[in-house]
Amino acid sequence: MASLRDNFKTKAGERLTIGVGSGTKWHILKRSRGEKTGDLVEPLVTTLVSAFEAGFNHVDTAEIYNTHAEVGEALRRAGYLADEKAREKVWVTDKYYPGGFPGHEPLTTGPIASIDVALKALGTTYLDLYLVHQPFFDPKTGTGLTLKDVWRELEQAVAEGKVRYIGLSNSAVPHIEEILSYATVKPAVNQIEFHPFLQEQSPGIVSFCAKHDILIEPYGPLSPLFRDDSGKLNDTLDKIGAKHGKNRAQVLLRYAVDQGFLPITTSSKAERFHEALEVETFQLSPEDVALISKEGAKHHFRGFFIEKFAPY
Ligand code: NDP
Repeated sequence: MASLRDNFKTKAGERLTIGVGSGTKWHILKRSRGEKTGDLVEPLVTTLVSAFEAGFNHVDTAEIYNTHAEVGEALRRAGYLADEKAREKVWVTDKYYPGGFPGHEPLTTGPIASIDVALKALGTTYLDLYLVHQPFFDPKTGTGLTLKDVWRELEQAVAEGKVRYIGLSNSAVPHIEEILSYATVKPAVNQIEFHPFLQEQSPGIVSFCAKHDILIEPYGPLSPLFRDDSGKLNDTLDKIGAKHGKNRAQVLLRYAVDQGFLPITTSSKAERFHEALEVETFQLSPEDVALISKEGAKHHFRGFFIEKFAPY
């Protein structure tokens, strides 16, 4: 069945795999945020290279992770930066950090400046997707830019050929409605926390994105396995996994894929990248998806931006 995901291809025209991330467990290993020099975090580079070798053609980074150098080095070692044709075979997502959290100030004067820094560190001339990492910033602090100013700069980056697609992350319906009211380039993606214990990061977000052809990229898809340690979904995942000969993580990733979403995952273990890509080789029945949703909805867990979405 065709899904919104199929509209997104590498520049060479290849179907996008699920994404490999360079945030969460990785950026905490990293040198101080904002510091632009320092040795590469080799475990991250080698892990990303193993993800590419396993078959991932889609990598996710962000300004605030401070992992551009490692992502760039991994792209280079995997051969993706050898020439223009090679670069066109991989999809690189990056995110602008607009500030809004104490201790996490914007790192540049705005998105265009951030993109220029990122392109240099990554060793590429364009990004496939550029997201506003979160909309919880106040123009009275930080760069002074409003969400509209930020979006205009993203649109400018598209016009200048620095970015192919633009989108959002952690955005709720009112944020997207605002952007749609003035956008000349619509948001293509909303990257949000999504798993059976959090099926709506904010009220009505899934159906709203579907209605506006905005692809949902779930992050934290494996949270029920380790961020929440209640184990409340394990029996259901095992029962469904046994039918397909797949493990809990594979079922959780497929749960996202079968709803038309494009999840981002990560691991420190090379073999798990092979397992993760096996999500393309099986499908859950609508009944399986419904059962995971039903059992997942009995328990609530949110791992990110907890205060911003409270009390929802
Ligand atoms: P996941 O929910 O997929 O969790 C990844 C973790 O799951 C890894 O630490 C890994 O541990 C563990 N794991 C992998 N396979 C298995 C398995 N078979 N069984 C048990 N555990 C397993 O993804 P993340 O939430 O970490 O995020 C992925 C990416 O999403 C980030 O790197 C980042 O790029 C992006 N992200 C974006 C955010 C945003 O605000 N836009 C916020 C958070 C993340 P191990 O190393 O032991 O395999």
